[in-house]
Amino acid sequence: MSAFDDLYDANTRFAKKFGSSGLTGRAGRGLAVVTCMDSRIDPLGLLGLKPGDAKILRNAGARVTDDVLRTLVLAVYLLGVERVLVMPHTDCGMAKVTDPDVHALTQERGVDTRSLEFHTVPDQNEALRHDLTRIRTSPFLPEGMPIAGAIYDVRTGLLTPAAF
Ligand SMILES: [Zn+2]
Repeated sequence: MSAFDDLYDANTRFAKKFGSSGLTGRAGRGLAVVTCMDSRIDPLGLLGLKPGDAKILRNAGARVTDDVLRTLVLAVYLLGVERVLVMPHTDCGMAKVTDPDVHALTQERGVDTRSLEFHTVPDQNEALRHDLTRIRTSPFLPEGMPIAGAIYDVRTGLLTPAAF
């Protein structure tokens, strides 16, 4: 028995019905989505996508970090991405704490995380504006590539496109 047996068992059942063997690694709909790790978000389902359609980049808070930028560059030049949607969400844990809060919480467990930057989100609109600008002004990405932001409401399932 391992902590992962439930997953391996489910995968055995999944593989029996597997029908995606013809897909390539290219994003079939030319899309990359940057979203949060929040377990309530089903990025494919809420956008009407299926496996093979899009690159999904997830982290805490849907932040455009150096690693997200690195991944977008690869996604654009190697894997068919032509548009990027940055999609944070309502009720995000990252908007409820600050970096010092997280450091204090881990300190209570005897762990010093001060060498980590958590990119917490004191103002969600401001963070989204900042992150969109980061992609739009990246010297490594094609000029004029469609970049949009939208906030996903975890209570209603609706997206609200950002006006910027
Ligand atoms: Zn979140």
